[in-house]
Amino acid sequence: MTTVNDISGIIEAFAPLSYQESYDNAGLIIGTRDAVLTGVLVCLDVTEPVIDEAMDLGFNMIVSHHPLIFKGIKSITGKNHTEKCLVKAIKNDIAIYAGHTNVDAVRHGVNGKMAEKLGLQNCRILSPVFSENGEEYGLGMVGDMPSAESEKDFLKRVKETFHCERLRYSEPTGKQIRKVALCGGSGSEFIELAKAAGADVFLIGEARFHEFFTQGQNILMIDAGHYETEQFTKEVFFDLISKKIPTFAVQISRVERNPVYYL
Ligand SMILES: [Zn+2]
Repeated sequence: MTTVNDISGIIEAFAPLSYQESYDNAGLIIGTRDAVLTGVLVCLDVTEPVIDEAMDLGFNMIVSHHPLIFKGIKSITGKNHTEKCLVKAIKNDIAIYAGHTNVDAVRHGVNGKMAEKLGLQNCRILSPVFSENGEEYGLGMVGDMPSAESEKDFLKRVKETFHCERLRYSEPTGKQIRKVALCGGSGSEFIELAKAAGADVFLIGEARFHEFFTQGQNILMIDAGHYETEQFTKEVFFDLISKKIPTFAVQISRVERNPVYYL
């Protein structure tokens, strides 16, 4: 018998809630801890199609990366996407749980997974902090390429690895890529740390226009997309749960897609 508490315990043993950013709302969002589970569906974002998918599968818990409730809500009347999902989940007795910036901040979380997909070695956290028991955690990651690659080849590999329809990047430096800094989702605020770490490239999920002015800074900045850079977080959750409870039903959403369309 697996409960909501068992699943949240597995995720929080991997990525303690105390590691989340102050603005965040990671953890159990809907549901009671003692509820017995029939299965867990894993996604990046809770949407109505994802809730429908869970119900079709007969599953009563959804684990997402982004929290369904992020800021205070004073009424739940179904007037927007979030509230429609809240109503549907509560009516249908579906527990909703988010592992967000706490999962960003652990070594084998969002950024560790990105580094693994790119085959980076000697990885370390880009912006490290230490927990009370001395464990290192924090946002971003920096690692070495197995062998140097031209900027063009690296860009092509990023595009393939993260299934990007397009990449946005800053003026090429002409250097070989040996050291890679990355941060899934957003991360542009860490560019100075990336440069200080000696990274040749900084791969992030979202950058603003003025942040592409990296001329003379000896670093290539790549915006590969928010969904694209975080999509493998679903594998992180899936692997965690399926390894801990091999007989339990857990599945990655098949209906979820990137909410951003490109022409
Ligand atoms: Zn994100």
